[in-house]
Amino acid sequence: MAIEKTLSLIKPDATARNLTGKINQMFEDAGLRIVAQKRLHLTKDQAGAFYAVHKERPFFNDLCEFMCSGPIVAQVLEGENAIAKNREIMGATNPAEAAEGTIRKLFATSIDANSVHGSDAPETAREEVAFFFSGLEIVG
Ligand code: ADP
Ligand code: MG
Repeated sequence: MAIEKTLSLIKPDATARNLTGKINQMFEDAGLRIVAQKRLHLTKDQAGAFYAVHKERPFFNDLCEFMCSGPIVAQVLEGENAIAKNREIMGATNPAEAAEGTIRKLFATSIDANSVHGSDAPETAREEVAFFFSGLEIVG
């Protein structure tokens, strides 16, 4: 299995509830390594640029408002099959459909305030990691 890197975001609903440590414990317990990390507060334009793929969706404006409503933690997770593994630990987008024991089942309060983001494929992982981090900031 390939060693991959993927972008993880801890969203404003989770940083507001002081859940950064609990969420990252779940990634580390599953064998993923945090090889880059920063806390930042996005502007609405930055949130829109990150989520540009969703710009035609009805929830786009609310999503951008939410993502710039408070601090986020951006990080790169590395490990075997990291892209799919991260998505599995996160759980389904809608917490009502998320499997038991996943981050979204445990912590998300709604489909908007769903606590975490994770890249969904190798190409998006590369683009999303590069959106937040330079090569110098990724230390495996
Ligand atoms: P995921 O984060 O699981 O990859 P998507 O890429 O489909 O999900 O959507 C990006 C984010 O947009 C979701 O995490 C969620 O915060 C928000 N979102 C998605 N679908 C909806 C929806 N139907 N209503 C409100 N917000 C949504
Ligand atoms: Mg997505």
